Amino acid sequence: MITADDVRKLAKEENVRYLRMTFSDALGALKNIEIPIALLDDALNNKIKIDGSSIKGFLPIEDADMYLYPDTNTWKIYPWVADKNKTASMICDVHNVDGTPFIGDPRSILRRELDAVKELGFDTFDIGAEPEYFLFKADENGNPTMKVNDDGFYFDLEPKDLGEACRRETANTLTQMGFEVEADHHEAAAGQHEIDFKYDKALYTADNVQYFKLTIRRIAQDFGLCATFMPKPITGINGSGMHLNMSLFKNGQNMFDDPDGLKGLSETALYFLGGVLAHAKVITAVANPTINSFKRLVPGYEAPTYVAWSTSNRTPLVRVPAGRGKLTRLELRSGDPTANPYIAIAAALAAGIDGINNKIMAPDPVERNIYKMTAQERKDANITELPGSLSEVIKDLNDDEVIKNALGSYFVNKFTALKQQEINDYRTNVTDWEHKQYFDD
Ligand code: GLN
Ligand code: MG
Ligand code: MG
Ligand code: MG
Repeated sequence: MITADDVRKLAKEENVRYLRMTFSDALGALKNIEIPIALLDDALNNKIKIDGSSIKGFLPIEDADMYLYPDTNTWKIYPWVADKNKTASMICDVHNVDGTPFIGDPRSILRRELDAVKELGFDTFDIGAEPEYFLFKADENGNPTMKVNDDGFYFDLEPKDLGEACRRETANTLTQMGFEVEADHHEAAAGQHEIDFKYDKALYTADNVQYFKLTIRRIAQDFGLCATFMPKPITGINGSGMHLNMSLFKNGQNMFDDPDGLKGLSETALYFLGGVLAHAKVITAVANPTINSFKRLVPGYEAPTYVAWSTSNRTPLVRVPAGRGKLTRLELRSGDPTANPYIAIAAALAAGIDGINNKIMAPDPVERNIYKMTAQERKDANITELPGSLSEVIKDLNDDEVIKNALGSYFVNKFTALKQQEINDYRTNVTDWEHKQYFDD
């Protein structure tokens, strides 16, 4: 834990010159305002003001002043900035002028949902996130081309893996920033990569995802590359997911673990899982929040398409990976890295808590490859499909009282309006596919 006094000391010792007060908009884009380090005390006393009117999902223009409350535990120095401009960042909660948390602030929304975990008698909700990404070649102006950086495959080595140097430098940079990097590897698709970092309390993992995406993009630039977290950048090969590995702890014990339970899972885990599966379609609205997200959720590319769970195979929505005891966890595989991590985690947690509160028992696990089951076999096993489009799930989100309550109607209304614009924009946009398909009709 890093206190305000630690921050003062670190700023001095490290000769930090600038401070980025960082937060996320409703869609999960990272935003910041930079202040000279001379104003550090103002920052630590929550005195830094922003105009929230131009931030997606924040306030209307006539009522736009907001204050940033930094979380000192998120203090990081950006290793890519030259020492003469040494720059640190803290992630902030966004508050109203009267000091209350702003109801549309994604980080405050997750915080609120995490209070519910405490009220249920648990200590922490932990998340390990696995955001995948692609490296594309940049053109002479640094803009992305349509060419990926290599044609490597899962776990390939150099010289096939041309992203290796960039990935290692990124891992070094993350380590300098205090991430505990656990592994890095080429992913299954050409140009696709993954760097795994250690799980943490849900709030800090969401913060880490935000810092992670920034770092990946920034270091790629140094290698003449452009990193993207879009879920399906290329038709016909794997897309990028952001699996969320979830567990609940109490007194240092993993409350999802029970060696005598079904597949080594406790009753709590099975209820949590039951809740996640019951609300799975709606979780998709915020865990897969873009038009492009739904092009990843199709059969054949290791991404889930059906609402089911399993211990071994990777086709269902939730997998319980190997490793029990402290490691017991539920891996939600639908989410992708365009999700606002605070909101996706809050929604999954709300669903899990609903499962615990209402004793929603998980259905039987499905250990077969669901892609290969017939429609009838799936029907007999009560396996339903994940939604096929953003417009479908946005409607469902507004009908799910549990998730809507957890995220709050303020957020859901803002989010829905932004997504509706995106859907309309896409609907009226003529694509290359249409040219190919209809030109000669
Ligand atoms: N890229 C896959 C997805 O879309 C996951 C592949 C993996 O991590 N094994 O979710
Ligand atoms: Mg992984
Ligand atoms: Mg992976
Ligand atoms: Mg995984």
